[in-house]
Amino acid sequence: MAPFAAEVFGHPSGHHRQARAARLALEDARDQVAELLGAAPGEIVFTSGGTEADNLAVFGVLGAVARKRPGAETVVISSAIEHAAVLEACRAAAARLAGVEHERVGVDAHGVLDLDELAESLDGDVALVTVMLANNEVGTVQPLADVVAHVRRLAPGAVVHTDAVQAAAWLDVALAAPGADLVSVSAHKLGGPKGAGALVVREGTELEPLVVGGGQERERRAGTHDVAGAVGLATALASVAGQRDEEGLRVAALRDRLADGLLCAVPSVTEAADRKSVLPGHSHLCFAAVDREELVVLLDEAGVCVSGGAACASGALEPSHVLAAMGVPRTIARGSIRFSLGHTSTPADVERALAVVPEAVARLRG
Ligand code: PLP
Repeated sequence: MAPFAAEVFGHPSGHHRQARAARLALEDARDQVAELLGAAPGEIVFTSGGTEADNLAVFGVLGAVARKRPGAETVVISSAIEHAAVLEACRAAAARLAGVEHERVGVDAHGVLDLDELAESLDGDVALVTVMLANNEVGTVQPLADVVAHVRRLAPGAVVHTDAVQAAAWLDVALAAPGADLVSVSAHKLGGPKGAGALVVREGTELEPLVVGGGQERERRAGTHDVAGAVGLATALASVAGQRDEEGLRVAALRDRLADGLLCAVPSVTEAADRKSVLPGHSHLCFAAVDREELVVLLDEAGVCVSGGAACASGALEPSHVLAAMGVPRTIARGSIRFSLGHTSTPADVERALAVVPEAVARLRG
């Protein structure tokens, strides 16, 4: 990224040699991202990250429908456990666009989409179905191939979007979400820079731009490109793809050691989801009779950085809509902690957590 942040300062839409150098880097990054996501280069729209990619998917599809059929009854279906970038976009689209309604489909006790409920909700009014490839809080991988098959059969006019922000580090998106029309990814979940991402827009998918102006990204996202960000996204994705299988096994083994160790060492702990259908880096544990915000602080003081749910912009921990959708009682959800492991995680990190967490929980319970 460094040369494109500092030395190659040309504007990629310009015509002189500096501009051409920037454009070459941008288009190389596009080719690489496209290949790694199983798309064509023209299907990649660079964005400022996962949130913008999700917003572009939701507002883009619903905006295109509203332009063609203003006020027509239009339904957007999402899972109940989507990230706020999708849920809030659906809610806002329903509030802003006449005729648009947002329906949420539930999940089972392990956080996996209820396909029967989805099938019942699908009909000719549905314009968009958005189901994440893997959940960010509990890590459950969703049955995207089944979602696509249901939509093609029961709502053939609808577009399928998947938020693959959390999954892309661990799963080959092209294989795990076959046939999705729109796919969101974010660089910082892959070890890349914050503020860079992409939306895959399959050829033929009608999309109204969110940001208009200079017509960049084939009129789908205006604004001068973040060349360094695009290069960072492509490099991170390539790096992750090159070691996905080994890293998945290595990190899952570390995660298992951590989760099994804590389940054994701490009384009254439950695992939020079924580990078999969870990403390798996720361990979401519910500690009874503990306040997660207090546990996060205690563990942070001991050098163990964990998450107590989805941190909103203020940094405060909100009640988890994901655990609520899974039917986890509020009293149990109060003490739920997400341990996230990744490419920098080591056995020593896990041993440190195993040494610190039981004591912190005992202290809080005491
Ligand atoms: N979608 C999911 C599933 C996420 O986990 C996140 C970030 O945590 C986002 C979307 C938002 O992505 P970004 O942080 O790149 O805006």
